[in-house]
Amino acid sequence: MFIETQNPANGQFLKQYKIIDDVQVQQQIEHTHQAFLLWRQTNLASRLDILTQLLEVMEQNKVLCAELITKEMGKPIKFSLAEVEKCMLVCRYYLSHAEQILKPVAQVTEFKKSFVTYNPLGIVLAVMPWNFPFWQAFRAIVPNLILGNAVLLKHASIVTGCAQQIEALFNLAGFPAHLFKHLLISSKQVASVIANPHIRGVTLTGSEDAGRQIAKEAGQYLKKVVLELGGNDACIVLADADLQMAAKQILSSRLRNSGQVCVSTKRVIVEKAVHQVLVSHLIEEMKGYQLSNPMQPDSILGPMAREDLRQNIHQQVLQVVAQGGQLLAGGYIPNQEGYYYPATLIDNVSPQSIAYQEELFGPVICVTAVDDVNQAVTFANQTRFGLGASIFSKNAKLAEKLASESIEAGLCYVNMPVTSDPRFPFGGIKDSGFGRELSREGMLEFSNIKTVIIND
Ligand code: NAP
Repeated sequence: MFIETQNPANGQFLKQYKIIDDVQVQQQIEHTHQAFLLWRQTNLASRLDILTQLLEVMEQNKVLCAELITKEMGKPIKFSLAEVEKCMLVCRYYLSHAEQILKPVAQVTEFKKSFVTYNPLGIVLAVMPWNFPFWQAFRAIVPNLILGNAVLLKHASIVTGCAQQIEALFNLAGFPAHLFKHLLISSKQVASVIANPHIRGVTLTGSEDAGRQIAKEAGQYLKKVVLELGGNDACIVLADADLQMAAKQILSSRLRNSGQVCVSTKRVIVEKAVHQVLVSHLIEEMKGYQLSNPMQPDSILGPMAREDLRQNIHQQVLQVVAQGGQLLAGGYIPNQEGYYYPATLIDNVSPQSIAYQEELFGPVICVTAVDDVNQAVTFANQTRFGLGASIFSKNAKLAEKLASESIEAGLCYVNMPVTSDPRFPFGGIKDSGFGRELSREGMLEFSNIKTVIIND
């Protein structure tokens, strides 16, 4: 069995990779387990030394990595470069903070000594998506290796070249052989990896379907799971907001990566009083988002990653329009090579439409007007997803109260769109999954939080 990659900007074949068989998979897990047994005995300082080396290796290879991202999944090259740089940011974050995070926490009790300490668990299987092929992988791999775990990566098939390149970077940096490996397997083989007793946890970033399947497999073997699934983020725009700034931010959040971002602004919920003004700002600003070859240095809107994804988003757009949405821009398949889809704006989207129930994973902005702030919050929460949300308003007090108390999501930002940031926990609630990545919380997900009590 083979995986074939192709360039979504022109549909051309890139490379063929041979999938390993189940015997080779089990051998690899054994090698990685042996590497883990040695790695967990190393001290944190020596692990961080290798992380410093990784930063150097990445600096030398960042253009090569960025080009690979763009070729395999179509992200405009300047954003691919930014993605690689963000991976370096997560390395720097843990270089500065790992010691503090992993330091045992003493408790004053009646015992001679008592504390909580953080031990590694073993091998973590990371099942990752294609939309940020480096970033998603790095944010799972780096904290786990530094904690003392080993990691096996099952990457999305369409970014197999990126997965191979990530493994090469970690090898070049000097991480021990087999401690981190890319498993060249199909999604059907994931269940047999989870079943192996040396696998102690699974982290998935991906679709709901994959989440349900992986949670079921992991549950059967009582393995810890973190699920980072889809989102249907709302952006509430209140009447007192800076509407031009809001329009710019909504578009940059929604059109980045051709809308293939879990935390992009998918539903714009705006107070009626400023609805028309906001929509005209959106239309005006959208003129700056023209489809272009993602390898061009100034490209900001490239192709979608696969033809079926483009078909899917187009069908969803047609359905939202059939359900009463008013198409103001885009909404067609362009007559050109590659899997391009234009920036699309749909106004008057009903909360009963599929735009509220399904994730629209493409460059499509859906706008709904509401009477007041209470209705805005009701509509924002009227989805089974709960990943991110944003609020635009000059009333800082009200916006903070809504963000911290009323919005049902794992992240809520005021006057800026949601992005991941290594300093803060990242993850969702409801059908967006559970568990967290990044920051202290993310690093400790796959640790054994151990209580130690010493009595006289
Ligand atoms: P996907 O189809 O679920 O694929 C994700 C990964 O899971 C791939 O490696 C895929 O392998 C594998 N996979 C798929 N089905 C599987 C199964 N039944 N058993 C085991 N593994 C399976 O998702 P995607 O299309 O790549 O990514 C888009 C989705 O990810 C969107 O819903 C997006 O919102 C979500 N996402 C969430 C976050 C977050 O942090 N919450 C971040 C980014 C993306 P193959 O490629 O070989 O099928």
